[in-house]
Amino acid sequence: MATATIQRVELNKHYDASIYCPFCGQKVIEMEADPPTEEMCHPCPHTLFIAHDEGFEYRSALFDANLGLVGVPDDDVELPETGIDGLTDSVTIPDSVKFAAYECLRKSPHIGNDFNGAPPG
Ligand SMILES: [Zn+2]
Repeated sequence: MATATIQRVELNKHYDASIYCPFCGQKVIEMEADPPTEEMCHPCPHTLFIAHDEGFEYRSALFDANLGLVGVPDDDVELPETGIDGLTDSVTIPDSVKFAAYECLRKSPHIGNDFNGAPPG
């Protein structure tokens, strides 16, 4: 068996859909927010991370521990060539799920806990 890595769910057409936690049902990313603000993000206890191309909105202790980022400020996280999308693809927490929303060719990964999410910038 291959090493367990985070499972991906890509949203290409419905990239503007709100993201709900598949475990507790909480609306973690509020896409209807008007105007869009950081209030759009409501991490639940299952949320591992919320990020977009410009950076992280939320990182859980479990996420930090899994990637060796404990105590590292968001701005100091070293990203691979594949960026935040690539970094978060390397999560190895069992049964974790990543929701990635792509607006056209511009990537705006929505990440979450056992899911993930982020607002298109
Ligand atoms: Zn949850």
